[in-house]
Amino acid sequence: MKRTKESWYKLGVLERIIFIAGISISILFAFTFHSSQKRKSSDKVNGLIEKSIFSFERKINIYETILIQTQTYLLTLEQINEQLFSNYYTKLSNLFYFEDFKGIGFSRYVTQENLPHFLKETHNNDPSFKIWPASNKKILSPVMFLEPKRIYDRSLIGFDQASEEKRFKACTEARKTGQTTMTGKIQTPQSRHFLNNSFLLIRSIYTESNYQNVNHNIDGFVFSQFTYREFFKDAWFHFKDDIDYQVYETNQDGKQELVYTSMLKERTGINQQQRRIEKFGKTFLIIFFPKENLAVLYSETLLILFLGLVSTFLIFRNVNQAKKMAQETDLYQEKLEETLKGRDEFISITSHELKTPLTTLKLRAQFLKRKMQQDQISTSDTKHFISDIEQQTLRLEILVNDILDLSRIRTGQFSYSISNFNLFEIISETFLRMKEQFKNIPGERPEIISARKEIMVSWDKFRIEQVLTNLLTNAVKYGDNSPITIGISNENESVIISVSDKGRGIHQEAQEMIFNRFERAGISANEISGLGLGLYITYQIVTYHKGKIWVESELGKGSTFYIKIPQYPTF
Ligand code: ADP
Repeated sequence: MKRTKESWYKLGVLERIIFIAGISISILFAFTFHSSQKRKSSDKVNGLIEKSIFSFERKINIYETILIQTQTYLLTLEQINEQLFSNYYTKLSNLFYFEDFKGIGFSRYVTQENLPHFLKETHNNDPSFKIWPASNKKILSPVMFLEPKRIYDRSLIGFDQASEEKRFKACTEARKTGQTTMTGKIQTPQSRHFLNNSFLLIRSIYTESNYQNVNHNIDGFVFSQFTYREFFKDAWFHFKDDIDYQVYETNQDGKQELVYTSMLKERTGINQQQRRIEKFGKTFLIIFFPKENLAVLYSETLLILFLGLVSTFLIFRNVNQAKKMAQETDLYQEKLEETLKGRDEFISITSHELKTPLTTLKLRAQFLKRKMQQDQISTSDTKHFISDIEQQTLRLEILVNDILDLSRIRTGQFSYSISNFNLFEIISETFLRMKEQFKNIPGERPEIISARKEIMVSWDKFRIEQVLTNLLTNAVKYGDNSPITIGISNENESVIISVSDKGRGIHQEAQEMIFNRFERAGISANEISGLGLGLYITYQIVTYHKGKIWVESELGKGSTFYIKIPQYPTF
């Protein structure tokens, strides 16, 4: 039992460790996986964003360079006309091609004072030239040339850039600082050609600081027009399908205005990121929305956690099974030990029990032989010895039969044969067979107390005789030569048989146990010989007959064994 308890305890601790460790490892692993995925994803997203912003800035720098180059070219000229500007653009467009670079234009810088002179000069070259819309602003900036011509309408020539608020601001700023400026989102007169969302990059040929040596012919602005859509779409080719983004521009009121979106419909992505780009005095706010393939999916983490927990459960179950097996092995071991102990006990008891009659038999035989050799044997001696030998043989027979019966009961081969008979016949036969044993009891036979002389039963005759023999033998053995009484009565179609003696009795605690095999209620084999099997066999027979057996006894006053069996049991 101790071993079993120890195993339980050990496995209990192991289980607990495995269970807690399994769950902790699963959670830890899922957590690590999630963080590493998050890091990987954010590394990738960050990498893509940096690349894109870099290419956006590079692109805008190229456009600025084109404007600077155009400005430089114009500064080298004494006079500019449409032909020269057109030639210049052709050379320039041979050098590069950008889808979103729609072309360049030139607008003059004209003050109200210079206006008549400007108009006169211009009308000499082109009589149809006029400035529109009409304005009385101090400064005008009419568009002079636009390239390529295939895109720009001739009607746009003469459009006064200063008439439009954002263009005017950007021109003024460009002239003041000498830097490239940007208009922000403007309504273009040519909006039928382009989508409305356009902006201009503007450079002033002269700045206010170097205005002394101005050549009025080329005094003005070079500009390029872009649509936001094409401008931003192209700059973000790195994203392919991985990231969506929106571009906001800060307008005059300081409000964010959406100028470009790569998404068909707005969405709030997971792991959303933001960047600001300062360019030409404008701030672009770009919001990035990594798509699902880049977003860290909780479902994957949950799946990993789930698998971890399932594995823990499986391991736990295996350990549990191992535990059960270990427990069963322990029980089996215990049973085996018990069996071996029982076997040793059995061998020791039976050999002791068998030895006594065998020794007596041997001694008697030797003695008889010696007497016969010496021819000194008398008839009474011979009778005495033979009766002694008979008794010992009977004793041996009983012992061997008991052992055989035990073995039959254990192997399920204890057979029964049911027949109808009168119980009193069996009692008489038993008395006859046991005559020798009753020699020392008062009246030399038990007294029968019964109201009837015939009770028919349907039992196994031989086995019931065995029961009576056992009970009567015990009454003789433990009755200390006291009178023995057999009581027989009928009750509700059952027969109650009692066997009483007035001998030593059985102490209370042993009264239940004596029906177990090898149980002798503390009586040693030296005192009264016996295997402790008689009552066990009796119990088996009575139970087979659907009956009951019990004992009433008081130490020193005697014992009464009762059996109650239905007259006609159903087997
Ligand atoms: P055995 O007689 O071989 O010991 P039994 O199974 O017949 O085996 O009896 C078991 C034990 O019950 C006996 O050893 C004895 O201690 C006790 N016992 C049985 N019958 C009596 C009785 N009539 N009076 C006192 N003790 C008894």
